[in-house]
This record gives sequence, structure tokens and C-alpha cells, in this order.
Amino acid sequence: MISFLKDILFMQRTYTKDAPLKIGEAIKLQGWVQTRRDHGKLVFLDVRDRTGIIQVVFKASKEVEPVRSEWVVEIEGEVKERPKSMQNLQIPTGTIEISASKLAVLSEAEPMPFPIDTPGHDIDEELRLKYRYLDLRRPRMQKNIKTRSAYITAAREYLASKEFVEIETPMLTKSTPEGSRDFVVPSRIYPGKFFALPQSPQQYKQLLMTAGFERYFQVARAIRDEDPRADRAFEHSQIDIEMSFVTKEDVMALMEEMTIFAIEKIGGKILQKPFPVITYSDAMKKYGADKFDVRTDKEKEEGMLAFAWVVDFPFFKKKKEGKWTFTHNPFSAPLNDEQEQWLLAGKNIEKITALQYDLVCNGLEVAGGSIRTNRSDVLKATFKILGYNEEEIENEFSHMLEAFDYGTPPHGGCAQGFERLLTTFLKEETLREVQAFPQTGQGRTSVMEAPSELSPSQLKELQIEIKKTPKK
Ligand code: ASP
Repeated sequence: MISFLKDILFMQRTYTKDAPLKIGEAIKLQGWVQTRRDHGKLVFLDVRDRTGIIQVVFKASKEVEPVRSEWVVEIEGEVKERPKSMQNLQIPTGTIEISASKLAVLSEAEPMPFPIDTPGHDIDEELRLKYRYLDLRRPRMQKNIKTRSAYITAAREYLASKEFVEIETPMLTKSTPEGSRDFVVPSRIYPGKFFALPQSPQQYKQLLMTAGFERYFQVARAIRDEDPRADRAFEHSQIDIEMSFVTKEDVMALMEEMTIFAIEKIGGKILQKPFPVITYSDAMKKYGADKFDVRTDKEKEEGMLAFAWVVDFPFFKKKKEGKWTFTHNPFSAPLNDEQEQWLLAGKNIEKITALQYDLVCNGLEVAGGSIRTNRSDVLKATFKILGYNEEEIENEFSHMLEAFDYGTPPHGGCAQGFERLLTTFLKEETLREVQAFPQTGQGRTSVMEAPSELSPSQLKELQIEIKKTPKK
């Protein structure tokens, strides 16, 4: 005999937001008890689900007696219009209530370790992160995480409309010179050898251009072993893009359109469109920095987002020890043919400009990218300036140099650190407020205890010996 699920589900769940459409009907609700009020013979429970909150009225009974805040319940009852004087027009379900006929407790709850109905900024962050799954119940965090999801969905929608292909790149990869410390993962099969977690998909996305995709994107995780700060974390997410046969203006226009589309989808207000473009040297003269906030106090108050592009960055800068380092990305191309000659000859290094562009919003760098070189001799020359010898270049980058010799189109890309953008849009102070399970300010995981020690058998299998007793 064939049966269908719809015949088995005899009473479908109603979401709280839909209950006002069902006056006079019997419905079933499932959710959390937000508050409980005892009024003699009657007990009022406010029941919350992902769509809202609703008032449920019980006759006092031994079933409802033990129920407390944050218990998970299933309730059957009739939707009734409240008398006019009892209506609460502040909430969408405030004109009705549920007269309960049945209660099932699906899960009991201990008292919460902290209030979850307040914004919660005042609560110790370590404690919030220890119980992140409860902290996330607060309306502010529900809103932040849902806004993040809506932003990513909008960006995906935009990029799909422009025929971008979403491609995942490996998490276990090779150490790269992206300017930060790598997180490393020991290999069991090759003892003494290590993978690195990606600081960005930079090289893979360039190789996807060699592979002929022309338009790549990924909501990518970038993992960097930096000291945690408000606008930096070990892990952050970026909308990562790479395109072939494009100019710097093409990539900037694409990123700008995507940002406007996605920001406006989530209700953001943008101060100036199209985004103004300023050179690095003008920005330094005008603002004394390459990240700046041009908003007036009133515009800040109104939650305006002030975007600007910064272009024409120096390719290289001198480190303290006198050696050259890159300012943004070693894979970039220089500004023009003349500068390419300088780069190949290793002269006028301080005058070489990279085809790099950064997007600034409200004083934060929210995206950055460049047109890359697709020539192996130019890339080699860059690494020579950075102090690599032939052998090191061969060991670390032979795969890129080789790929460039098999027909790699001119290409460029950009990565948007949308968590920073959302942090400023949502008027939050730290990236952590828009991440579900961020690392703590002390560099530990939320909820789970990590980093943590490995068992002796795991260490043995990896052939790793711990010299010092680890710090607690
Ligand atoms: N890989 C760069 C970054 O992560 C972005 C880019 O140049 O596309 O900052």
C-alpha cells in the first residue's frame, strides 16, 4: 500500500505569525515559553517560535504548574480574538490569544545563565560565548544572523544573474605568503609534513581562470593566525570573486553593483552612488589614512553607509629591516607597461603602483582586490624583489608559474569582507556580533573547549612530541 506523508500528519503545526488568520480554529503551536504569568485560576504563557510570539491562556492545572521560561512545549488550543481592551497592538499577534486545551512538554530548561531578552551587550562576552546557543536566542542576535543570511542570499542572487559559477576551493592547502601567519594541520600519512588552512582562496581562484571558468565566486572562509581584535578574527568570511578578460574598472563596477544590490535588499541606506573613487596618495593627503569615514554626525545617526574606492596603491613598501614587502597582494599586476619593465628589472621599486583597489565603508576596509599578472616572469620578478631566491620561488610557486605557461587569460578579482560591512550596518562593535560561533577575544572557540590537548594515541599517530607542558 502506498501512503503519503500528508495523510499521516493529522494536525499540522501553525506558526505564531499565522495564528491571527485562524480565529475560531483549533491549532497546534510548538515553541519556547518566553514568559509565564500566574493570575489565580489562569496561567498565561507567551510562546515563541522562529516567526514571533503569542499569548496562550491555560486554566491553572498540575500539567501547566511546573512549566517555566525556555521550556519547549507543544500546545493545542483555539484561536480567540481578545476583547478590545486587552489587545496589544505593539505585536503582530496582539489582537488574539490561544485558549489552550492540551499541553505537551517537549523539553525542560534550567534557568538561563544570563538574560536573553535584552540586547546583552553588557553581559561578559566569555560567558555569552560559552553559552552561545542561548545567547543566539536573543532578538538582537537572531536579527544579526538572519540579516547576514539575507545579505549572502542577495549577493548570490546578484552573482548568479551575472553568470558567476560558485566553486569551493580546498581547506587543506599549502602555506602561502598572504601576509599573515598560517594555521597548520599535521599530516598523519606524511609525518612531519603539514597542510596550511587557506588565508584566502587567492591562488586557487586564479587557477580557476586558467581553467576557463572566467567568472568565479565563493562565500569563502579565510583563516589567519592573527591576534584577535574587534575587526579581525582567526576566521572570517568573504565573498570572493575572480574574473577573466577584465579591467580594474570592470571588477570595481561589479563589486559595487553587487554591494548596492545586497545592501539595499537588507534595508541599508547608501550615502553616495556611484561610489566615489580616490587615489591612495590623495586619501593620505586628505584623510591621513587609506580608510576614512566621510559621514557627518547626523549621517552616522541615520545609519548611512558611506562607501569609497581607494586606488593606485604602492605595490611595495620597506619593512623595518630594510627588506621589501608587498602592501596588498604579491599576485597583482603593476599599473602599466613601463612599470612592468621596472618590476622585471627590479628598479624604481618604490615608484611601482599596483592595480589594486580597496573598498572603504564608514572608515573600514570592506573589500579589496587587484588585477593580477598572468606572466610567469613578472610573478617571478615580484618574488625576487620580496627576497625569495630561485629555489624558494620554485618550491613555493612552481604551480602558479607553470599554470601561467599554459594559457592563462588576463584576470583580476576582489574579496569582500562582508562581516565588517554588516558590523557597521548593524551598528555593532565587533565582527563577533555577526558570526554565529566566533572565537573569543582570547582566541578560543565558543561553546567547545578548543584549542585543547590531543590524546597520547593521537599524538603518537601523528608522530608529534610535545616538548613543554601546554599553557592552561
Ligand atoms: N585575496 C585577497 C584577500 O583575501 C583579495 C583579492 O585580492 O581578491 O584579501
